[in-house]
Amino acid sequence: MQKPYSPRLQPAIVQLLGEPIAQIVRTKIVATIGPACREESDLRGLVETGVDVFRLNMAHGSVSEHQESLDRIRRVSNALARPVGVLVDLAGPKIRLGELPNGAVECRMGGEIRFIRGTQTDRPEEFVTSYSALIDELSVGDSVMLVDGTVSLVVEERTADWARCRVVQPGLVRSRQGVNLPGVKLSAAAMSQADWQHAEWAASAGADFVSLSFVRSAVEVKLLKELLRTRGSLARVVAKIEKREALDNLEDIVEAADVVMVARGDLGVEIDVASMPMVQKRIIRVCQRYQKPVIVATQMLDSMQHSRRPTRAETTDVANAILDGADACMLSGETAIGKHPRLVVEMMRRIASATEEQYVEDRTAYVNNQLSQGRTPSTHSVQDFLPAPDFLVEGLHPITQAVVDGASRIAADLNAKLFVVASRSGVTAIARSKRRGAVPTIGISDNPATLQQMTLYWGVTPLAAVASTDINGLLEQVTAWGLREGKLARGDWILLVAGIGFGTGGHNMALVHEV
Ligand code: PGA
Ligand code: MN
Repeated sequence: MQKPYSPRLQPAIVQLLGEPIAQIVRTKIVATIGPACREESDLRGLVETGVDVFRLNMAHGSVSEHQESLDRIRRVSNALARPVGVLVDLAGPKIRLGELPNGAVECRMGGEIRFIRGTQTDRPEEFVTSYSALIDELSVGDSVMLVDGTVSLVVEERTADWARCRVVQPGLVRSRQGVNLPGVKLSAAAMSQADWQHAEWAASAGADFVSLSFVRSAVEVKLLKELLRTRGSLARVVAKIEKREALDNLEDIVEAADVVMVARGDLGVEIDVASMPMVQKRIIRVCQRYQKPVIVATQMLDSMQHSRRPTRAETTDVANAILDGADACMLSGETAIGKHPRLVVEMMRRIASATEEQYVEDRTAYVNNQLSQGRTPSTHSVQDFLPAPDFLVEGLHPITQAVVDGASRIAADLNAKLFVVASRSGVTAIARSKRRGAVPTIGISDNPATLQQMTLYWGVTPLAAVASTDINGLLEQVTAWGLREGKLARGDWILLVAGIGFGTGGHNMALVHEV
């Protein structure tokens, strides 16, 4: 159980009066690797353009290919002296069509399709799938959705050997495409044999995040965590919310997970696509209450797979996800198979930057307005931006939470230039990240794995600490870095949160330092 967030520790009013708007982009960018960006020079270009985390999608490609990509990412990261996160995405119980005759079949309106057992068929009106129990678990009246929900069938009759379906939305279906069964409870195991092997590989390869697709319950998340821990991996587990059952068990799943993904691709087929926007907001709000980082994924800049410019709806979608409280936005086909991976990342960065800038301005105006009327500004912004958390960050000492909250207020009041969190495990950086302070945050650690995990946390720039680290040493390192990078000038104030003489691994000190 996560500990309740004590009312005594409610966050202080974060005043953003006249705070500087730094050049850094606070919202993190996750990019999926694919044929369009696999070369080392491509990956380097994407990191330079603004990718924070790469996703290796285990549903495609071989383990040796993914190992190669991972090696390239680590080399690029070393060469640029910039931490980069690696997310290994397990396919989970995703159902796929088998091979279709000639690779594709036209499903005509009103036509009949039979799902049959086995792995092969040469008749165009018969489909086989990767899920052997499908026939047993379908019932008359169930919907079967194909091609991302654009082709739809309804089960009309079922025997021991087949399920006969009627086409109610026509279209062209291709081999190995995904099959979604909205509302059907499947007995499929959370992790297939392939998922287990991929998880073991992720652990041995030093992945920073491992995500599980089609999560239905908290137990499944805990299972993956357990597997990783027993293999000595500290990878953080990402629960992909893309099934109705996951929405039914949302709070438990969010509590069990380290990170959450709003996986809109499949979720938008499994539930009514019209309710997707409000479901996205609901998931993000629960993540905020539990202080879990959350990624919004799929079709964010979809049209840029082909076009050099996004649609207005897409730029608005990215901005709204950020205002909803997304910590990171994800690119899938846009970077994996699109024509303009680098342009897409640049566009996402620019939208994030413009959105954050306006947010800080709006908030400043709101706070000024409240103060001029003699009122106390609420922690809720004009956008109702992010409710206060209900729970402590998992694994965080209550003292640390209080110190981070207090220091966040001091940083805002003093118009500090940097907020520095020294963190061994990274959980303190999550607490700071979830405050959504406008003062840029540096997450400093001597642990490379922690730095790589911080790449996902909103507003946190990971910075490697050089060896021995007493408080003065830390301040010297940060100051040297800030002066070199043009992020600090003499006379600037920086906030440092750290722990001294404290056995519990918590942070008990907030210090204001003048450069
Ligand atoms: P996928 O997951 O790209 O692995 O399907 C994300 C989603 O469904 O949105
Ligand atoms: Mn999915």
